Amino acid sequence: MASVGRPPEVDKHGNVIQKSLVNVTIPTKLANFLKEKGINRSKLFTDIVTKLYKEKLCPTCYGEDLITTLVGRFCDDCNNKIPTETYVWLELFNCKNCGNKYQPGYNMFAQPKDRSFEKGCFDCVPKENRL
Ligand SMILES: [Zn+2]
Ligand SMILES: [Zn+2]
Repeated sequence: MASVGRPPEVDKHGNVIQKSLVNVTIPTKLANFLKEKGINRSKLFTDIVTKLYKEKLCPTCYGEDLITTLVGRFCDDCNNKIPTETYVWLELFNCKNCGNKYQPGYNMFAQPKDRSFEKGCFDCVPKENRL
């Protein structure tokens, strides 16, 4: 039997994204609006839930295995699938001391030797003053 329909959607690791049909009840005017604008409700719902719960859900595999560090947040599941030591960050935080964004490889976490503050980065702790 020939396969019907589109090929299954896969994530960036090549894994098929399993899907479920969900029914939602929304105001008729909202439903009409989406229909008139030709908005794909499945994609919209997926995008919104993923954005709304970005601190709990990975936007690639939709898993909940997120790890939050001082520097940022990454998905442990996705990270384990790539053959590298570098994390694939979902979000990077700003240094609590100077406000600059952590950029692993370039701007990393650092603490000053004189302990004048607890949590800094390469930008605000000169190399000679790093612990
Ligand atoms: Zn993931
Ligand atoms: Zn800093």
